[in-house]
Amino acid sequence: MDVKREKKYKILVADDSEMNRSILADILGDEYEILEAQNGLEAVAVLRERGPELSLVLLDIVMPGMDGFEVLAVMNKNRWIEDIPVIMISAESSASHVDHAYELGVTDYISRPFDAAVVHRRVVNTILLYAKQKKLVGMVSDQIYEKERRSSLMIDILSHIVEFRNGESGLHVLHIHTITEILLEHLLQKTNKYSLKYSDISLISTASALHDIGKISVPDEILNKPGRLTKEEFEVIKTHSQVGASMLTKLPFQQDEPFVKTAYEICRWHHERYDGKGYPDGLKGEEIPIAAQIVALADVYDALTSERVYKKAYSHEKAVEMILNGECGQFNPLLLECLTEAADMIRTELNVHSFGPASQREIQKLTEEFRHHEELSASERTLHLLEHEREKYRFFASMSMEIQFEYTVNPPMLTLSEWGAARLGEKELVMRPHKDKHFLEIFGKTQMEEFFRLLLKTTPENPVMQYQCRIWVGGQERWHRIISRATWSADEKPQFLGAIGKAVDIHEECTKMLDLEHSASHDGMTGLLNYASSKKIIQERMAEVPGKRFALIILDLDYFKRANDQHGHMFGDQLLKYFAGKLRQCIRGGDVVARVGGDEFVIFLEYKASLEQIVNRIFHSLLGEYGEFKISVSMGVAKSSLLISNYEMILHCADRALYFAKRSGRGRYSFYDETMKDMFSVISPIDEER
Ligand code: GH3
Ligand code: MG
Repeated sequence: MDVKREKKYKILVADDSEMNRSILADILGDEYEILEAQNGLEAVAVLRERGPELSLVLLDIVMPGMDGFEVLAVMNKNRWIEDIPVIMISAESSASHVDHAYELGVTDYISRPFDAAVVHRRVVNTILLYAKQKKLVGMVSDQIYEKERRSSLMIDILSHIVEFRNGESGLHVLHIHTITEILLEHLLQKTNKYSLKYSDISLISTASALHDIGKISVPDEILNKPGRLTKEEFEVIKTHSQVGASMLTKLPFQQDEPFVKTAYEICRWHHERYDGKGYPDGLKGEEIPIAAQIVALADVYDALTSERVYKKAYSHEKAVEMILNGECGQFNPLLLECLTEAADMIRTELNVHSFGPASQREIQKLTEEFRHHEELSASERTLHLLEHEREKYRFFASMSMEIQFEYTVNPPMLTLSEWGAARLGEKELVMRPHKDKHFLEIFGKTQMEEFFRLLLKTTPENPVMQYQCRIWVGGQERWHRIISRATWSADEKPQFLGAIGKAVDIHEECTKMLDLEHSASHDGMTGLLNYASSKKIIQERMAEVPGKRFALIILDLDYFKRANDQHGHMFGDQLLKYFAGKLRQCIRGGDVVARVGGDEFVIFLEYKASLEQIVNRIFHSLLGEYGEFKISVSMGVAKSSLLISNYEMILHCADRALYFAKRSGRGRYSFYDETMKDMFSVISPIDEER
């Protein structure tokens, strides 16, 4: 195995000679990342900061300040030497030096001057060896952890079974575990009277989970009786401590195993009292094993602060007070001290593990239900979203009036959009294009072959192709433009998978384009030209033949707001359409008529003889009634002249004339004259009203 391919291991080279460091870096730098230290102190600093990253230390002995041996001493003290191998490289080759180095835990010793190949080989070997060892250690500790995890899981399960029978909250075991742990920590700080080690904390608190297993033998009616127990019933309950203990002795365990021993003590004696008045054996004071004393205290505290079938829950403060007052049994004074000191911590820790009044079983049930519900709604939601997408696709596909399709090579299948299939008279959405008789009839074999030939000419880089062809639609041969995008796999050598695309009726496409153009240049409601397009036409006409006589009329309905106010906006619209129709009727072929604002229109015309007559005719032809509304109109007229020779000028002048007509009482027309020019600057209230 080549080490460098795995990952770049890091090597610390600690040597005071720069030359030595760079020789080693030359030998190893290609394969490894080299960190350098110029003396012992620097080496220790690197070890402290980046120790876990290091795979090897190459260490010189003689260095200023702190030498190699001192570095090894620090590595031993901090137990770094167990994880990081050290190879000593030194000119000191005396046996005493070498022995001392090995005593301090170095893996290898290379004396200077060295051979580059030897250094390289030994470094590779050492790193490999340690890497293997680390992996092994990891595997073993994983197994130990897994074993422990499994056994504590078994204990949890067992104790929960007991609890549920007892009608206790499923949190009881968890609480006892936590309280026992906290009390033990305090006790250990306080005294070594019981020769407890820190490892005993986890042993005892884990074993505490089994304290009530004997209750398995107690009948349900007694265990969960809400009222007071009779003397006999209480005697039955009391048997649980002994039963639990003897259950443990009968199980095929090694009885001298510390865990079994501790569990036995807890089961049997967690109802003993410090004053000797407990059961089953009436042990007194320190006769009661300390593990059982602590679990007894924890059990009482949790029983007081929890709700049971026969009692309400006391507050944390009340429970502590009752215990300290001796209302709930007699306890070791040292443990009562621990309880007083740890009271706050216990309350906080238990709050973290508390779920309010609901029992664990209820919580589990709720969780299951919730999860189940979530799963359901999640999949419903996904289906709903997919359906929504499909609906969206179908809607847009039908709106587009295109024959949309999807083609797959394997299996050879053509799928049409619903609108597309209906348009082609295909009954099914999915078909085999080469075999479907109807499809071959409407598309033609030659055309289809040509289509596939073009499709196969596409590449992943240029997947789009266009093709014009005839398709028989409703008994008519119609030209279509097919735009198609080939689909390719993402493999290294992409495979042609099929295509997606659409066929568009060219004739209808042109009509649609014209419609679009029309709607861009015409007013949607009245169908007359709009302001922008009329402006363009008028500009062109005036520029085309400068000598011609043109007139521009701006018309504005009088009191149109009232039509809206009195009869509604829809009536207003109808009136505008009606008025537009009238306008269309009263002009000649070459004239331009447009709607340029709400109730404002423009007529542009070329005249030869009397403009007065024309305007008068138009004016009178527009008057009349629409429903209950009396149509009245004001018009401003301007003629082209040498001075009024472009669109802006003529429009402006007509607008002034209209303004004049409005101001003069509406229901009339005015021709622009020079006097109206002065009206620009005067903005009267009526002006603003308009
Ligand atoms: P005046 O006699 O001074 O011309 O007053 P007017 O009531 O005719 O009101 P004016 O010309 O100042 O304003 C035109 C009104 O036309 C304003 C707006 O409420 C209404 N309007 C504009 N566009 C439309 C439309 O498309 N439909 C309808 N129903 N009303 C519109
Ligand atoms: Mg008006």
